[in-house]
Amino acid sequence: MKYDVIIVGGGPAGLTAGLYSARHKLKTAVFEEGVVGGQITLTTYIENYPGTGSLSGMELAARMKKQTEEMGATVVKEHVIEIKKRGEGKFNVKTERGTYECKTIIIATGAAHRKLGIKSEDDFVGKGVSFCSTCDAPLFQDKTVAVIGGGNSALESALYIADIAKETYIIHRRNEFRGEEYLAEKISKNAKIEVLWDTLVTEIKGKTMVEKLILKNVKTCKVSELKVDGVFIYVGVTPLNQLAKGVGVELSDKGFIEVDWDTQQTSIPGVFAAGDVTGRLLQIGVAVGEAIIASTSAYKYIKNLQK
Ligand code: NAP
Repeated sequence: MKYDVIIVGGGPAGLTAGLYSARHKLKTAVFEEGVVGGQITLTTYIENYPGTGSLSGMELAARMKKQTEEMGATVVKEHVIEIKKRGEGKFNVKTERGTYECKTIIIATGAAHRKLGIKSEDDFVGKGVSFCSTCDAPLFQDKTVAVIGGGNSALESALYIADIAKETYIIHRRNEFRGEEYLAEKISKNAKIEVLWDTLVTEIKGKTMVEKLILKNVKTCKVSELKVDGVFIYVGVTPLNQLAKGVGVELSDKGFIEVDWDTQQTSIPGVFAAGDVTGRLLQIGVAVGEAIIASTSAYKYIKNLQK
């Protein structure tokens, strides 16, 4: 199958790039192996995407997908294994089902949640350890839950979980949040949330399910235990850059794709990137903006090929 533009990743950046490319009358496919919408589908309430009011990430993703498909882009649910440049304006995109050809690529593979890096974290995934409050908070009705992290994701999740759980702790390694003051203020006013500052989780313990956390105060070095039924880990994100690495685009020392900010062009002509994988401010609005630039640049790239 041949396309003008293949977009890899179906989060806000990928879907927006699909919408704009299709609107440019380019034959467009958006490849997404997982849930269309990406990271936003893990977000319970989105309050800071203009014009939509407060809505769930799932709802925003569904609306974006619908609009992109109605404009004429195809959403393909296949896992992309490799991107290869064969020549100017000639790319192959290999999936487990076959190889697709296209003239230009937009990489919008996003970022994934980071892990704490303690051994017991993996042992309890699905047994009380979760990386998605939207998915799993309802399991902790009237129970005790800890949220680890001090960024916007941890704060938003804690506020959501506190509506459901009996007690919610936020465990943060410093004595001030990284997340927005707006959220920090809401946390401080919520009687069902207690913040444990300057605290690291060194171990998660339980027989089959999570039962307690071993904590260490970084200032006093005091070790303590906290009985919990669930742990939500929100300690940042890491770029999903495997395909970008494979095709050979330049990455920053943190692994984000380096782009020219005026065009979203990567170090390889014809390969553009947008969204969280470029490492700019991680916001839906920014991802959408980058995708608009990337798809407009991809359109110009194709027009130049025809000259
Ligand atoms: P983040 O902003 O990078 O925050 C990660 C938090 O985890 C930080 O507080 C960090 O502590 C802590 N942390 C990192 N490694 C840790 C470790 N090994 N042990 C304990 N704590 C650790 O990540 P995020 O909250 O996932 O957000 C990612 C991006 O998405 C951010 O740019 C955020 O603004 C954005 N976002 C925006 C919204 C929104 O606008 N509504 C919602 C969600 C996310 P330190 O503070 O000490 O570094």
